[in-house]
Amino acid sequence: MKRIYLDNAATTPLRAEVITEMTQVLQNDFGNPSSTHSFGRSSKTILETSRKSIAKLMGCAAQELIFTSNATEATNWILTSAVKDLKVNRIITSKIEHHATLYTVKHLQHQYNIEVDYVNILPSGGIDMTHLVNLLSKEAQTLVTLMQVNNEIGTVLDIEKTGRICHQHQALFHCDTVQSIGKTEFILHELPVDFIVASAHKFHGPKGIGFAYVKKGIALQPLLFGGEQEKGLRAGTEAVHQVAGMAKALELSYEHLESERNYISELKKYCISQLETQFPEIKINGEATFYNILNILLPFSKEKTAMILFNLDMKGIAVSRGSACQSGSAKPSHVLAEILTEEDLKKPSLRISFSHYNTKEDIDALIDGLKGI
Ligand code: PLP
Repeated sequence: MKRIYLDNAATTPLRAEVITEMTQVLQNDFGNPSSTHSFGRSSKTILETSRKSIAKLMGCAAQELIFTSNATEATNWILTSAVKDLKVNRIITSKIEHHATLYTVKHLQHQYNIEVDYVNILPSGGIDMTHLVNLLSKEAQTLVTLMQVNNEIGTVLDIEKTGRICHQHQALFHCDTVQSIGKTEFILHELPVDFIVASAHKFHGPKGIGFAYVKKGIALQPLLFGGEQEKGLRAGTEAVHQVAGMAKALELSYEHLESERNYISELKKYCISQLETQFPEIKINGEATFYNILNILLPFSKEKTAMILFNLDMKGIAVSRGSACQSGSAKPSHVLAEILTEEDLKKPSLRISFSHYNTKEDIDALIDGLKGI
């Protein structure tokens, strides 16, 4: 049975070149980057060359990048240090953020008694900018945390406009860019954003590695104490092969960005047209969504909800109901809960997320699979 992977917002397959790069580093460069002998220096060179390469692709300085084990860690660190060390006493976020943000904010609210405000979500799934401006008009040491591309429905935040509004109100801006890094262009030194986060496994790199971008001049305190690694901000021997794999994955993502974006956009259009032909009552959740994410409300009875993923999985087709961390849960999606009616929320919704490895045949198989339900 051919297995079909249409869950690329959860994670992505590694590119062959990334595996080659990582294997070479594992075989040849086992030195500890902090050692001063040639073995160590060689590993250190890989680490710093990777950092420079990522910085160049992201349009920032290498010193502004801190390697972390993933985006969850980066977000936990940034938000926590902003409250503890930058004296932030209020966070503005939205109810459709990833749990890495939402649960960190909830924890900070309880632990440090900070004020938390949730900006309204429009029926389109977008952020209500007028409400954001209203919330920002209140005097407080504020940090705004909003994601660029929603991982469940694919709605897109205008990061430039949001950052400008935040800075006009002297608020810090943290943007969860996990779903957009490697899939859209960034020139960070021109963007009014203070922090972004990334996980390499979302752009065909390895799991267990990511980075935080912290704008020059913002003094966060260490996430982990110990050695001098990562400017003393995240102590612990660096995962050199992971970092090299991440840099390679990002280089390839940007090298092929235009052609892969066009290809995936066409694939998504094809998928929508086939779905609409076979299931005319289908609805798309969210408007003007990112090119690799499609979230649909299926015109099936709510009794079928639990069966759909299972049935597709039996046919070798991997899609999801939303965030991977929740797909085993019977709870409705916290994102869809913000934009759907009570009744629609009970009906089956499906997230289909594409990569350049997918083909029209994959889509045809998915449609056949759905027809069989
Ligand atoms: N933010 C978004 C938008 C995500 O999609 C994810 C992963 O699903 C994360 C944060 C967390 O990433 P990780 O689990 O790699 O830390």
